[in-house]
Amino acid sequence: MNQEVKTTPTAKNGGRLFRNDVIFIVALLLLVSVCGLCFYFFRGEGDKVVVTVDGKEFGTYSLAEDVRVEIRTGGEAEELNVLVIKDGQAYVETATCPDGICAGHKPISREGESIVCLPHKVVITVYATEEKDAPDIVV
Ligand SMILES: [Zn+2]
Repeated sequence: MNQEVKTTPTAKNGGRLFRNDVIFIVALLLLVSVCGLCFYFFRGEGDKVVVTVDGKEFGTYSLAEDVRVEIRTGGEAEELNVLVIKDGQAYVETATCPDGICAGHKPISREGESIVCLPHKVVITVYATEEKDAPDIVV
């Protein structure tokens, strides 16, 4: 940081230097916290949901619009996951898979969150569109 202050011989001013260091550390911690908050608010929220089945894209849906999607998979479309987007959150309302893990998953809305249905090879992931990226923060 301030190279001059640190390299100047200041035996008498030791106490003051220490206080400056504390202020510097507190300021740094505050800065880190603020950056963390910015990251949380600007980058955390996703705005679209991408559904893939067996690695192939099934559909993309906006989190802003309430929608109910039937994801039918399996040889004769006998497997079903019902994806519901409501109030900016996505969740699996019902599913015919044996484990029911996907239907029991809490609603997702943050970038990178996903609901996976292993038996049906269905993956539902929240993404944020790139234009919404926060401006670069120069420290
Ligand atoms: Zn499932």
